[in-house]
Amino acid sequence: MRDFQYFEPVTLSEAVSLLQSGNGKASLIAGGTDLLVQIKEHVRQPDHVINIKKIPGMDDLHFDPETGLRIGALTTTRAVETSPLVQRHYTSLARATTDFASIQVRNRATVVGNVCRASPSADTLPPLIADGATLQIYGPKGRRIERMEDFFTGPGKTALGADEIVTHIMIPPPAPHTGKVYIKHGRRIAMELATVGVAVTLTMEGDTCREVRIVLAAVAPTPIRAKRAEELLRNKRIDQEAIAAAAFAAKEEARPISDVRGSDAYRRQMVSVLTKRALEQALKEAQ
Ligand SMILES: Cc1cc2nc3c(=O)[nH]c(=O)nc-3n(C[C@H](O)[C@H](O)[C@H](O)COP(=O)(O)OP(=O)(O)OC[C@H]3O[C@@H](n4cnc5c(N)ncnc54)[C@H](O)[C@@H]3O)c2cc1C
Repeated sequence: MRDFQYFEPVTLSEAVSLLQSGNGKASLIAGGTDLLVQIKEHVRQPDHVINIKKIPGMDDLHFDPETGLRIGALTTTRAVETSPLVQRHYTSLARATTDFASIQVRNRATVVGNVCRASPSADTLPPLIADGATLQIYGPKGRRIERMEDFFTGPGKTALGADEIVTHIMIPPPAPHTGKVYIKHGRRIAMELATVGVAVTLTMEGDTCREVRIVLAAVAPTPIRAKRAEELLRNKRIDQEAIAAAAFAAKEEARPISDVRGSDAYRRQMVSVLTKRALEQALKEAQ
């Protein structure tokens, strides 16, 4: 492992100054479950490693019925997984953080770290996008907010500046009669990245779908919304025929590659199967 300088700032502005002094060769570390693997495998060779664990105010997990859920940058996936409020109001995120690595990794790994790593197959991204999450970001010009949906620009790439820090994730409160489902499909669930992931957040009014978001993971360079599939359902009566049409449309919208986990054709087919399954489950939950 190449030598690096290690810092433990106690304020956000100190952390930003350290990022700036790193001249693009500085990395933040939260849980370290991605960063340390990348350093050991020489995928990244930072000169400065900046641990953000001593900065106060970033370990909250708070639900307010008016404003929704707030997840701090130091909140672990285990804390999210075991929160009764997340289990009740954000079922797909609770599922994603349960079907995630091992319990040891979940006790270290943060949800914000999972987001900033920006792996196309990362588990928390589809439910967060489906739930309309936003990111609070701190940088030299102060704070800004970015929609999670616009944050990912490629595998491992985000819209975050080299001198910016994600401080929180905000997720709006669920509307009444909303069902939320995340299905991770892989050779195995534990200790495995998804071969295909599908998240659905669906709000019903009687028999009619008022709002729906369908997010596909591991089938494009970033997680993507299956917008044509959503259009087939929004403001329509939902029946088996509509679900089958949406599942077919989602399959057409996927842009998978072939790799060790599965061929592009297999992934595309699984998008259709899992979208149908996720929509059926979300519909049941919403009623
Ligand atoms: C054995 C093993 C199994 C795994 N299984 C899964 C799995 O099933 N599903 C899955 O999705 N992932 C899995 N992972 C990946 C990893 O655990 C997650 O991506 C984790 O959530 C990353 O969080 P972290 O706090 O450890 O991030 P770190 O490693 O500390 O950081 C990850 C990246 O985010 C940046 N970063 C961290 N915090 C911030 C911040 N506040 N602002 C800006 N940038 C920041 C870092 O600079 C780094 O680039 C696995 C990893 C291991 C080692």
